[in-house]
Amino acid sequence: MTGPKQEPAEVAAAATQRVPPWHSIPVKLISGIMLLTVVAGVSVWSIVARQQELLFFEQRTREASIQLEVVAKDFTERMLGGGGKAVWGVLTADTIELTRRNLAERIIVFRADGTIKSASDRNAIGTKLQVKGNPACPGCDSTRAEDFPATAVVSTGDTRVLRVVSQIRVGETCRLCHQKDEDIQSFVAADFDLSPLERARSERQRSILLIGIVSSAVLIVLVTLLFRRLVMRPIDALGNSMTRIAAGDLAARTPAEGRDELARLGRHFNRMAKRIEDQVASIAVAHTESELLYRLVLEASKSLETIEVAAAVVRVILEKLAPARVAFFLENAESGWTCASGGREIPPSTEQGTGALDAALAANTGAIKTKLENAPHALLAEALATRRPRLAHGANGLSMALPVVSETRLLGLLVCVGMPAGTSLDETQLENLGAHLMLAAANSRNYTGAITDALTGLKNKRYGLARLEEAESFAQRHDAPLGLLMCDIDHFKHVNDTYGHPVGDAVLREVSRRIAACVRKSDVAVRYGGEEFMLILPRTGADALAIVGEKIRARVAAEAVCPRPGMPSIAVTLSVGMAAYRGAGDSGDALIARADAALYRAKQGGRNRVELDA
Ligand code: GH3
Ligand code: MG
Ligand code: MG
Repeated sequence: MTGPKQEPAEVAAAATQRVPPWHSIPVKLISGIMLLTVVAGVSVWSIVARQQELLFFEQRTREASIQLEVVAKDFTERMLGGGGKAVWGVLTADTIELTRRNLAERIIVFRADGTIKSASDRNAIGTKLQVKGNPACPGCDSTRAEDFPATAVVSTGDTRVLRVVSQIRVGETCRLCHQKDEDIQSFVAADFDLSPLERARSERQRSILLIGIVSSAVLIVLVTLLFRRLVMRPIDALGNSMTRIAAGDLAARTPAEGRDELARLGRHFNRMAKRIEDQVASIAVAHTESELLYRLVLEASKSLETIEVAAAVVRVILEKLAPARVAFFLENAESGWTCASGGREIPPSTEQGTGALDAALAANTGAIKTKLENAPHALLAEALATRRPRLAHGANGLSMALPVVSETRLLGLLVCVGMPAGTSLDETQLENLGAHLMLAAANSRNYTGAITDALTGLKNKRYGLARLEEAESFAQRHDAPLGLLMCDIDHFKHVNDTYGHPVGDAVLREVSRRIAACVRKSDVAVRYGGEEFMLILPRTGADALAIVGEKIRARVAAEAVCPRPGMPSIAVTLSVGMAAYRGAGDSGDALIARADAALYRAKQGGRNRVELDA
């Protein structure tokens, strides 16, 4: 039987516990992806932007250089066209015209010493430009033709311009007008506005940034969704199944469809859970069986008397298997049987009957019929015929009939009706149970036989004397009262002589039954010898003793004994002698002697009397 699934508090707490966000795998993963995306995006973005800037700048420089070369060549030709100093005015007009046509922002023509001779900005004419070591005048230190056009990015106020400087070529033709030693080297410089370029660059950067942010966001959403679906969902399901198993629900399994690693892990987990479930089930069955057997052996061994053993077995069966009804029959040492019974809503009781148990069960009448009325008839019949345990599932639950057999002799029968549907019992377990019950039955039978008087069913003298010794030491130790009765049937010889010994035996049995019915379970009724009885009454003082003695006398005398059906009844009386324990110094033997003396007085006093030792 498996017990109810109980969820320990800590397991329930674990089931509802959430992983804090900062420890959650998706949060860690998404943070990592975001960080990686930002770093990669910024790096790619800066490399691309830098390369584009270089590319555009290079392209712009090349265009500007070509344009300036054309201007410089044009200016050279103008100079070669003559005109002396007036040529500067012409060039100024040209520079103004060129800037108006947006060729450049500003154009200046200056001598090698830096004196500005022509300029699109007339105010600059005549001023001097620093040429030596001036980064804003690239190439101005050089006289080599291959260093030109020279370029530099120069800040002018708020704007940045690309400044291109070119040489105006000096050739032999120039010397036709200029002196040999005259320094006629001139430069032309043009400023090209970089702001459109920079605007375009910022525009591009913004676009790249936007595309980067949008694609990163899409990537993160996609990765999150995929991760939740492919990884977190199976992991959560696996975690839930583990929690349920930890709480005792061993049937918990995790979904494991698919061919990925987590599906494979799920299948491994399910196989493991199934194995645990099977093993726990078999352990539970073995545990139930061993616990049942242990309790049976323990309880049954607390007493060896048949009636006590039967009651103990019924108690354990009710506790462990919870049947609606249980009855346990045991054959007595001498002819007769004992039955203990009870149920979920039926108080325990014991019953005794005469005749062999086997025959009594087969006859199925009287008390036996009452005890077995709810048991499936076929189940009982089959169990008794085969001497083997039988189980049957019915509308009222599980029923069983377990014959207790030694060799082929039926020593007992255990019948359970209406065990709960979840009860896990099989016939092998019942065989084991039967073997234990057989030992208990055989032991109790031997023991009960050894302490019982075969004719009357009362305890025999040897047992009685041993119990008297125990009662005496108890009374001594606890300073408790103790009473002893000796009874003797009056003129019993006459009964034997008149009706014969078998009738005498029947009278003895009936008188014994009446005596036993007058005392408590804790008292001991003993057949002391022939037609003499001894009764030990622990915790009973003189007053109560006198009442019991009189009760016994009256009960026996009240009704004549019918020894056999159809025979005339025989009037029977008995005489009673009683003695009460006198405390320390008194003894069992002394009690017997005093009770005997009192009995003698009762006989002397006319019989059918009670006498108490004073
Ligand atoms: P009293 O009133 O003085 O006791 O007279 P009594 O006849 O009962 O006493 P007595 O001791 O003379 O006789 C006892 C008789 O009990 C003798 C014996 O035949 C009979 N008796 C003893 N044991 C048994 C027994 O087991 N079965 C039968 N039928 N008789 C028994
Ligand atoms: Mg007698
Ligand atoms: Mg006698």
